Formats: sequence, C-alpha cells, structure tokens
Amino acid sequence: MAPVAMRTAAQSLSGAKPVSFWLDDPDKPAPQPALTGDERCDLLVVGGGYSGLWTALLAKERDPGRDVVLIEGHEVGWAASGRNGGFCAASLTHGLGNGIARWPGELAKLEELGERNLDAIEAAVAAYGIDCDFERTGEIDVATEPHQLAELKEMYEEARKLGFTGLELLDRDQVRAEVDSPTFLGGLFDRRGVALLHPAKLAWGLKRACLGLGVRIYEHTRGLDLVAAGAGMAVRTPYGRVFARRLALGTNIFPSLVKRVRPYTVPVYDYALMTEPLTEEQLASIGWKNRQGLGDSANQFHYFRLSADNRILWGGYDAVYPFGGKLSADMDHRPETYLKLAEHFFRCFPQLEGVNFSHAWGGAIDTCSRFSAFFGTAHAGKVAYAAGYTGLGVGSTRFGADVMLDLLDGERTERTELEMVRSKPMPFPPEPFAWAGIGITKWSLARSDDNGGRRNLWLKAMDKLGLGFDS
Ligand SMILES: Cc1cc2nc3c(=O)[nH]c(=O)nc-3n(C[C@H](O)[C@H](O)[C@H](O)COP(=O)(O)OP(=O)(O)OC[C@H]3O[C@@H](n4cnc5c(N)ncnc54)[C@H](O)[C@@H]3O)c2cc1C
Repeated sequence: MAPVAMRTAAQSLSGAKPVSFWLDDPDKPAPQPALTGDERCDLLVVGGGYSGLWTALLAKERDPGRDVVLIEGHEVGWAASGRNGGFCAASLTHGLGNGIARWPGELAKLEELGERNLDAIEAAVAAYGIDCDFERTGEIDVATEPHQLAELKEMYEEARKLGFTGLELLDRDQVRAEVDSPTFLGGLFDRRGVALLHPAKLAWGLKRACLGLGVRIYEHTRGLDLVAAGAGMAVRTPYGRVFARRLALGTNIFPSLVKRVRPYTVPVYDYALMTEPLTEEQLASIGWKNRQGLGDSANQFHYFRLSADNRILWGGYDAVYPFGGKLSADMDHRPETYLKLAEHFFRCFPQLEGVNFSHAWGGAIDTCSRFSAFFGTAHAGKVAYAAGYTGLGVGSTRFGADVMLDLLDGERTERTELEMVRSKPMPFPPEPFAWAGIGITKWSLARSDDNGGRRNLWLKAMDKLGLGFDS
C-alpha cells in the first residue's frame, strides 16, 4: 500500500491544469498582428520576452526618435518570461556566491549595478503603470540540513568581509517566525535585493509601454534567417522581411540567428506547481505574513512564494536536460516531477495537508556553464546578443538590454568595461559528451545533497575549471 503522504500528493494534483498559472488569465492581451510585407527600421529586436521588451523600451527611452520594430515568433511572454517564479533579483551574477567565485575583483561594481538595475525596474513599473503585483519583500535562503546551515553562515561572513552588509543570518526560531516549516533550521535573509512579481503581467505591461512609445510589435512572426543587406541587416520572416540598421537578439534558449552563439547554452527544463488560494486559517497555520520569497539551499533546490491571491508557487528541484538540447512542447509537462514536487511541498508544510494544486507547468531555462549571462556582437557590430541567464533572468535581462544597446551604439560604458561582459563562458561540448557530462554532474549534485554537502572528485574538478550545471 502506498504511504499516506504519497496518496495525498497524487490526489492534490488531480485537478491541476497543465498550463502556467501566470498565462492562464482572461485579461491576457490579444496578440499584435503578424508582419506581412517588408518593414524598415533603425533597430530590430528579435524576441518578445523580457530581454527583447526591455531592449525595445530602453532604446526608445535613450532616443525617442529611433525607429524600433520588435518581432516575436509566438506571443509576447509565452516562454520563460511567462512561466517563471517571479523572483526579480538584483544579482547579475546568479547569486553572490557565484559572483565571488568568478569576478571577485569587480564584484562591488556588479552588486552596485545590480541594485541600480532593480531600482530602475521598480521605477519603470511605477512610471508606466505596469500592474504586475511588484512587491520588494526580499528572499530568505533557508537551510533544511545542518551542512546547509554552515554554508549559509560562511556565505554571510564572507559577504560581510567584502563589505556587503545587506544580509541577515536567522536562526531556527527567527526563520520559523517568518514562515513556519518544521524542516527549516535557519536562513539568510536578503530584504532589499529581491522583489516578487507576476511574471506574465510584467511582460504584458512592458509590451503596452513599448507600444505607447511607438515600438511596432509583430507577433507570430518568427525571424527565419539573418543576412547583410546594404549598410545594415535583413531578417526574413514567414510573410515578409525586416531591414534594419542594427539588430538585437533577445531569443534566450531558442536557436540563435547567430549560429556560433548556440553552443554556449543548453536548455534545462524546470517545473513549478501552484496551489489553490489558501484560506486565512491555512495561511495562519504557516505564519507567512511578510510575503517574502524563499528558496532552500540544496544543490537540487526548491523556490516558493505567495501570489497576490495567496496561492503558493512551489518550483524547482528537478533540472531536466533533453538529449541533444532539443526543445519540445512534450517537455513542458512532467508528471513524475510534479508528483515529486507535491511530496516535497507537503513535507515542508505538513500543516497544509488537503490543499490542492490548481496548475502545474514547466519551461526551458537557458543554462550556460558560468550561470550568468554573456554578451557579444556579430556582423561587424551591427548585431548584438545577450543570453545564458540560467534561471535568474527576471531582473538581469534589463541589465542585458542596456549592454546590448551600449554595444550597438558603440559606446564604452561602465557596463561594457566589465570583465563579466567582455568574457564568455566555456561552450558545451557536442553530443554525446554534453549528455554524459551533464548526467554525471546531476548525479554528483544529488549525491552531494545526500552526503552532507561533500563534493566528489568530479564536482571538485568542475569547480576548478569554473564549469557547472544549474537551473
Ligand atoms: C520554470 C522557470 C522558472 C524560472 N524562475 C525564475 C525566477 O524566479 N527568477 C528569475 O530571475 N528567473 C527565472 N527563470 C528564468 C527567466 O524566466 C528567464 O531568464 C527570462 O524570462 C529570460 O527572458 P528572455 O526574454 O531572454 O527569454 P524568453 O522569455 O524565453 O523570450 C524569448 C522570446 O524570443 C522568441 N524568439 C526566439 N527565437 C525567435 C526568432 N527567431 N524570431 C522571433 N522570436 C523568437 C521566443 O518565442 C520567446 O518569446 C525561470 C525560468 C523558468 C523556465
């Protein structure tokens, strides 16, 4: 007979709609018509996720006279930008630990730019009236194993030594006074460095702001290829072409129109559940008053947060790499992962037994081997790209948009001077080596979680080479 917790988890999923909660919204705006015929512009932006939308918006803010066109292959916000956890972090380096390991010399600058970037997002949300439930409530990284507690303490002390004073170390009682789970042993609270928001509403709000500034947006308009045309570039689409002086690619994990960029990223599928709205009593049973986001500190981690109507989003843990890096709609759903996530949810919050999940979905994350975005140009500086945000792109895509515009304008700025912007991650090898390497890394990370955080020889070698796998 199945254990009780298993039965509860499966039953809790029986009514879950297989679609992103954020995109399942009757107020979703209608798509803009597809491009038919030829278009000409100063700047063509390819991709209607945050990356492309911020690029179009900032291009207009920098120079209102610039003629900007954006093409989106499907619908604005349908991909990662409409499926994510909505943790909008200041960090540009996929967390402080990764920043310390990779760019210690310029970390103070990176942290300052990241804070300014998050402030600018908050200001844009207010200025354009973007109704995306933006709440700057912070995030607590919680420890659920003793070795994680030691790691959080080490991170706290290292951050203080480097002069970053924004983190608070919480003991077991303090963290459980914020959100009560019997699994929490302590936490590290970043009160200002993370905001939570409604991901799809941010994308739709940015779309509206772009249209308001005169950006011409064409949806269901895939860029098929890219060729030089006179002094600029031309992109072919199903029913027409766009001729542009400059081009910015915000195409995330989809095959880049600049082929040599492709080996730098692999798709990693990440999954999330959303509960039904909690009642007052259910919410009180876990004491979650201050609405901050949470994540646990394992290699295979969970992230969780409240929605505006007091549902809990619970995601993460499994990070699934499809052989050959092949994107497919079939990968968007994975019942075995949903079941695992539901079991973990009830282990974390046994007080919520009986709660049901209303939605379950997945999406592809553009993972690169250094976990934070990379940037570059092609076609003699006429094309710029930014990709590789690895699960922390809600905030940092705005920074990436600024970098792409700096590069296209040929400007030397505090951003383009950064080592992080000038360097590239190590590309992934072809198959079957990528599959094998990622498989061994995933297996080793899971073992490390079960083994007091001890890293085996493979992980130590990867650490030495500055390589990794994450979601
Ligand atoms: C399940 C999940 C949870 C996540 N949680 C978080 C989180 O909590 N916090 C966080 O910071 N990050 C998170 N992320 C990552 C974050 O969502 C992404 O980093 C971010 O949305 C990337 O934005 P983007 O615009 O680059 O990509 P996307 O949103 O994927 O947009 C790219 C767009 O380009 C279009 N496109 C591609 N090729 C072409 C072409 N040739 N022609 C026309 N259009 C094209 C696509 O159709 C797509 O709409 C998560 C991701 C997932 C999948």
